[in-house]
Amino acid sequence: ERRVVIVGAGMAGVQTAVALREQGFTGTVTVIGAEPHPPYDRPPLSKAVLLGTADGSAFDIDFEALGIALRLGVYVTGVRPADHELDTAAGPVAYDSLVLATGAEPILLPGSEGVPGVHVLRTLDDAERLRPVLAERHDVVVVGAGWIGAEFATAAREAGCAVTVVEAADRPLAGALPAEVAAPMTAWYADAGVALRTRARVRRVEPGAVFLDDGTRLPAGAVVVGIGARPATAWLAGSGIALGIHHEVLADDHLRTSAPDVYAVGDCASFPSGRYGERLLVHHWDNAVQGPRTVASTVIGETPAVYDPVPYFWSEQFGRFVQYAGHHAPGDELIWRGDPTTPAWTVCWLRDGALSALLAVGRPRDLAQARKLIESSTPLDPTLAADPSIPLKKA
Ligand code: FAD
Repeated sequence: ERRVVIVGAGMAGVQTAVALREQGFTGTVTVIGAEPHPPYDRPPLSKAVLLGTADGSAFDIDFEALGIALRLGVYVTGVRPADHELDTAAGPVAYDSLVLATGAEPILLPGSEGVPGVHVLRTLDDAERLRPVLAERHDVVVVGAGWIGAEFATAAREAGCAVTVVEAADRPLAGALPAEVAAPMTAWYADAGVALRTRARVRRVEPGAVFLDDGTRLPAGAVVVGIGARPATAWLAGSGIALGIHHEVLADDHLRTSAPDVYAVGDCASFPSGRYGERLLVHHWDNAVQGPRTVASTVIGETPAVYDPVPYFWSEQFGRFVQYAGHHAPGDELIWRGDPTTPAWTVCWLRDGALSALLAVGRPRDLAQARKLIESSTPLDPTLAADPSIPLKKA
């Protein structure tokens, strides 16, 4: 009987196991995950789970009925592709096909490791440690005005904490969006009563305080570091599996790695996008849901599919629903569709006359239409697209 072993019991790993069964795979399927908890969904961790309005976010999947063996609380320490074997604390595990789905890990703030009161937000355990911080309404300093920082700041304000966000760049989301698009988001922080300090760097963190480069001392009952995440691939050192510049597993367009019978999916892997002509490393939920269908069909091997998604993600911050589809590059033409000082607006990016990406704030219909327009590379009239009263699909 053929044995598929999946490392990582997050969305990508679990969905790969489910997709294998859906596509008729009859061999054994084993999912090995380091975390002890039943597999769960991460987006609620910075939203309902953090605020205590949801208890947890465990996946509603009957693993036993699907014939999926879960081995939880087991950390995989290495892989020897030539032997088709994994190493774990509980001993070696043999595989015929191996899927790497180890996700990503938060980047830590140098010098803050081990300081009491310093948190990251990636796992259920992290969220559970942060719940009392919110309930006790501590003064909170958030380091990083990215997606996680904004969502945590939103929840902390909702809970009644005093919140300061420290950001090294001159604006929020500097890594994700061009200056003119991110600029209006600065006002969201002020409107929510969050003190946003841009062009500010943390020099030192002590229990109870954060010190900035300019000497400012910020009182901090808790510090939440949200400065990005890095693929969790350190355990692959010495395996010979090729990694990229962001430490990610380099997958091909069928999600195969450089080692025979080893595949990779989700936050831990990048793939070459035919649609965008560059390699993409996507750290968003939809990629961990879509990728598994492709990787499962590649593993089964009968109808290997090409993975070339239109990336999609959303964020809920400061009372706004932010959605993004596609992938923009520096040369793309930027078109405003609506006024960014109002509650609902959209930005379109065009390349060669067609939509390459779209950001929608409170305009889910634009987003839904954009996904289809990008998928089909339909030419778009920039003048019509700029008019928010005309449906995008008619532009
Ligand atoms: P992960 O979910 O990271 O799962 C990987 C698993 O592998 C982990 O459980 C890890 O413990 C395990 N593992 C790692 N190394 C080993 C090892 N050596 N041995 C065994 N197990 C190992 N995306 C959106 O699009 N919208 C959102 O609103 C959104 N909100 C988010 C909020 C938070 C707080 C976080 C953290 C993420 C959010 N995301 C959001 C991103 C989304 O959750 C991720 O893209 C998704 O979880 C990736 O799934 P994955 O399975 O690839 O990785």
